[in-house]
Amino acid sequence: MNTQDITNIKHLLSTPKKIVIVPHKNPDGDAIGSTLGLYHYLIKSNHHVQVITPNDYPSFLKWIPGEQNILKHDSQTKACERLIDDADLIFTLDFNALHRSGNMETVLAASSAIKIMIDHHQAPDDYAKYVFSDVSMSSTCEMVYHFIDMLGDLDTIDTPIATCLYVGIMTDTGSFRFPSTTSKTHRIIADLIDKGANKTEIHNNIYDVNSFNSLQLLGCALTNLRVIPESKAAYITLSQEELNRYDYKKGDTEGIVNYGLSLENVVLAAIFIEDRQEGIIKISLRSSGNFSVNEMSRAHFEGGGHTNAAGGKSSLSLTDTVEKFISILPSYNKALNNE
Ligand code: 5GP
Ligand code: MN
Repeated sequence: MNTQDITNIKHLLSTPKKIVIVPHKNPDGDAIGSTLGLYHYLIKSNHHVQVITPNDYPSFLKWIPGEQNILKHDSQTKACERLIDDADLIFTLDFNALHRSGNMETVLAASSAIKIMIDHHQAPDDYAKYVFSDVSMSSTCEMVYHFIDMLGDLDTIDTPIATCLYVGIMTDTGSFRFPSTTSKTHRIIADLIDKGANKTEIHNNIYDVNSFNSLQLLGCALTNLRVIPESKAAYITLSQEELNRYDYKKGDTEGIVNYGLSLENVVLAAIFIEDRQEGIIKISLRSSGNFSVNEMSRAHFEGGGHTNAAGGKSSLSLTDTVEKFISILPSYNKALNNE
């Protein structure tokens, strides 16, 4: 995003506009935090602003300031599509290609609104008029902070905005430990705390809300953990039957993949989760060092993401998907053993 883009966006935002903000399907902490942080910032300048998510999100995000005003496209389709058709401006946050918005892809592509992308994923598509893309950023929330800074409005950051942005930086950095966390990230976090973000409360609201069943499901996942030492890889499976047994709720499997990566001498971890309703296996991949799970997912699992965290899917059965994963590993052995 160059200075001319900033000047143009400042001009666009100088009069009240009808604005829609959209994150990716199955929104996570960064997706909800960034859209709501931007939402609170924009309503302060008298814009009409609506956050629309493609679908529902985990209950551990259902306390973030402004969350109760979110509309969900899958359950409130007509109202959402009217707002999108009427919008002057559409911000798309935390995703790099329109298909990542699931069933919202068609209505977003057809809209004549000016689109602004703010995102940190690799290989952004060029559907937006204004693109603020930076793969070195820890999170889209960190980018929304920079966006507000570029518009000269850091002083407008209040407790709700600070809280929302803190959530996404915390969740996308694994609580400030992933390599994407910089000293600048910490300075931003310090500023957000100064501006009212309550770090202990936020951490508790996100991480200390396990149900008995979700911990039992974690136990099941850890029992299913397998290691492939020659590839420095580990994987976990969860079948639909296992999810049902522990009364699976959206968000219950979040973060489980990281247990694989926490093993000694493991640099690649995967989790394969059966979703009978969608007829797919949802895949999460994590790595440490330079091994790119973004490339692995793009090449084999119809997905993508970042170097060290990517998602994807498979339409094979759970067993066949695992077999496919095991069969492609040898071609990566050299890279994996160099880590
Ligand atoms: P997760 O494994 O937590 O679902 O996703 C890890 C990272 O990869 C996140 O940044 C997420 O946005 C991205 N991601 C997840 N699934 C997909 C996908 O199907 N395609 C792309 N391009 N990125 C994905
Ligand atoms: Mn993100």
